[in-house]
Amino acid sequence: MVRVGINGYGTIGKRVADAILKQDDIELVGIVKTKPDYVALQAVKKGLKIYAPDADSAKAFASAGIPVSGTLQDLLGQVDVIVDATPGGVGAKYKPLYEEVGVKAIYQGGEKTHVAEVSFSSLCNYDEAVGRRSVRVVSCNTTGLLRLICTLHNAIGVKSVRATIVRRAADPKEIKRGPVNSINLDPVKLPSHHGEDVKTVLPWLDIITAAVVVPTTLMHVHLVNIKLSRQASIEEVLQALQSTRRIILVDTKRTGIKSTAEVIEAARDAGRPRSDVPELVVFKDSITVNGDEVILFQAVHQESIVVPENIDAIRAVMNIASREDSIRKTDETLGLGKPLW
Ligand code: NAD
Repeated sequence: MVRVGINGYGTIGKRVADAILKQDDIELVGIVKTKPDYVALQAVKKGLKIYAPDADSAKAFASAGIPVSGTLQDLLGQVDVIVDATPGGVGAKYKPLYEEVGVKAIYQGGEKTHVAEVSFSSLCNYDEAVGRRSVRVVSCNTTGLLRLICTLHNAIGVKSVRATIVRRAADPKEIKRGPVNSINLDPVKLPSHHGEDVKTVLPWLDIITAAVVVPTTLMHVHLVNIKLSRQASIEEVLQALQSTRRIILVDTKRTGIKSTAEVIEAARDAGRPRSDVPELVVFKDSITVNGDEVILFQAVHQESIVVPENIDAIRAVMNIASREDSIRKTDETLGLGKPLW
């Protein structure tokens, strides 16, 4: 059993914790929580061991009557891998501590590229992460783009990508972010950083991205235009996309679904935990193949899409499973690809 701790128990941290609890080769030793709030109370109820970042925070937990098992330092002494799911930039501050203690670290996409030895996407470069001391699981939008690009690249070959990203303004729990009534060009000066982030995994790829932020919390939507390395048929493209459980094809003619709201409602009705959709959602009827060009709409559930990649990253750094075995195990245990209707 690989022993893992999670530092930062927010949107990503709590989902990675739930995913680890479903694995038989990875054990969750504990989570680090900054504040004694409802999330901490729920973690206790779940039987998770809570650690505080430092002695002062531990005192705040004690005054609130929530038991803690020690500090982050104590947790680090008991684990092989720490999954850092703290807010963007905070992981870099913890890096010297992780290195000093000698635990392997999985960082998230909010960190700068150089925080880790390798940026990671399971379908693209699992093997590059094998045995590493540190890995950065790329952001939600980058994970969505890479799932699509590598699936088509492995099956047919990809030359270049142009993508427009319509980003959600905030996660559902966030009360202080916007916009509320605007479409913000983010950034105005093109390209957006997402293409560069894709290149941290696929440095050879010709990719340019643009992004706008819109007042929604449910999902991001991408309009992607891919130039293949040869002409292909729509059947070939569909076959490639159907070959992985990490992509769901939404058939609008059959389901009536033509929005992110309906995707999430379907996940709720299907009883998905937290109404999560960790798969990349590709709108089947949008797929247009014109010679060597593919155009399509896809949607990314930002809160959950990186969770399978975090589980694979743990197996990769510990070198306990091959790419195929890890992906299969993660997909099966997390129920990826289970029909929503
Ligand atoms: P979040 O704010 O929901 O959770 C972060 C947690 O870390 C919070 O519980 C916070 O209290 C805790 N924290 C803050 N400072 C800390 C500290 N010094 N020590 C320990 N814990 C601390 O953030 P999130 O959305 O889960 O994002 C975490 C990382 O994942 C970021 O790098 C982000 O860019 C990335 N990410 C987020 C999303 C998303 O859409 N939410 C998607 C993919 C990747």
